[in-house]
Amino acid sequence: MIIAIIGGGASGMAAALAAAECRDNQIILLERQSRVGRKLSATGNGRCNLTNLHAESWGYHGDEPEFVKPALKRFGVDNTMQWFQSLGLLTVVEDWGRVYPFSDQANSVVDVLRYALEKPNIQLLTGFEVQKVKKTEQGFRVEGTEESVFCDKLIVACGGLAGTKLGGSMSGYKLLRSLGHKCTRLRPSLVQLKSSWPLCASLKGVRAPSKVEILRDGVQHSRSDGELQFTEYGLSGPVIFEVSRDACEGGKNWVAHLDFLPCKDGNWLKEQLPAAF
Ligand SMILES: Cc1cc2nc3c(=O)[nH]c(=O)nc-3n(C[C@H](O)[C@H](O)[C@H](O)COP(=O)(O)OP(=O)(O)OC[C@H]3O[C@@H](n4cnc5c(N)ncnc54)[C@H](O)[C@@H]3O)c2cc1C
Repeated sequence: MIIAIIGGGASGMAAALAAAECRDNQIILLERQSRVGRKLSATGNGRCNLTNLHAESWGYHGDEPEFVKPALKRFGVDNTMQWFQSLGLLTVVEDWGRVYPFSDQANSVVDVLRYALEKPNIQLLTGFEVQKVKKTEQGFRVEGTEESVFCDKLIVACGGLAGTKLGGSMSGYKLLRSLGHKCTRLRPSLVQLKSSWPLCASLKGVRAPSKVEILRDGVQHSRSDGELQFTEYGLSGPVIFEVSRDACEGGKNWVAHLDFLPCKDGNWLKEQLPAAF
C-alpha cells in the first residue's frame, strides 16, 4: 500500500515510522520546508520537553478532552519513552514529570527521527508544498506546485498555526476542509500573556515558583502552580502557558493573581515584612 503523509513535523515523522513497520507499505513523506522537524528543534526552549510522566486525559483540554483516552491507552508514556530509547535517544526526567533528551538538545530528538526515516520503504520529499488534495476512485491525488503524488491512504500532519516562522500555517485546515472535514473555533493556547502592569518590565528575567489565578470580572477562570517568568511585556513560563488558554478567549477585564508564597497565609507575610503593608 502507498501511504502519503503531508508534513514532516513530529507527528508526520512518527506516523511515517509507524507505517513503515509494515514492510509492504511504501511511505511518501512530503515536507514543504527544506528539512523536516524544524518546529521540533525549537520546542521546550531548544530542549524539547518530549513527554510527561503524568500525561493523562485530565491534562487535555477542548470540547472533548476524553478523545485522547484510546490513544493514550494504546500508546502511553511508557511506550513513548521506550520508542525514543529504541531510536537511540536517552532521556532524563525533571520536575513535574517533564521528560527531556539527556543531551538537553531538541536537535537530538530531530536527529534520531531523521536517521530513523532512512529506511528503504520511506521516501522523503522536502521542498514539496501540497496545494490540493483530491479524492480519486483508487485513493488520493496529492498536488504540489510542480508534481503530484498518488496514494492509497493519506495522513494529513500539517500541524497548527503556532510558530509560523518554523512552518506553522493554515494549510492543514484548508486541505482537510476541502475533503469535507469541519473545524472548531481556533484560538491560541500555551502562550505568554501581555500585561499592562508596569512592574513586569522592571522584573524582566526574574523566575519564581508561583500560584497563578486568572480572573475575569472577579470570577476565577483557571488556576495553576509552577514556574513563572516576568518578561518585558508581561508574564511567561510554564504556569502561564497552562492558564493562558482561558485568557485567550479575548475581551477585557482579565486579571492575573500571582501568589509567590502559596504555602503561607497573608498574616504570616505581614508579620515578616510589616514595613511592606
Ligand atoms: C515555541 C514552541 C515551543 C514548543 N515546545 C513544546 C515542548 O517542549 N513540548 C511539546 O510537546 N510541544 C511543544 N510545542 C508544541 C509542538 O511543537 C507541536 O505540538 C508539534 O510540533 C506538533 O507537531 P506536528 O507534526 O503536528 O506539527 P508541526 O511540527 O508544525 O509540523 C508540521 C509540518 O508540516 C509541514 N507542512 C505544513 N503544511 C504543509 C503542506 N501544505 N505541504 C507540505 N508540508 C506542510 C510544515 O512545514 C511542518 O514541518 C511547542 C511549540 C512551539 C511553537
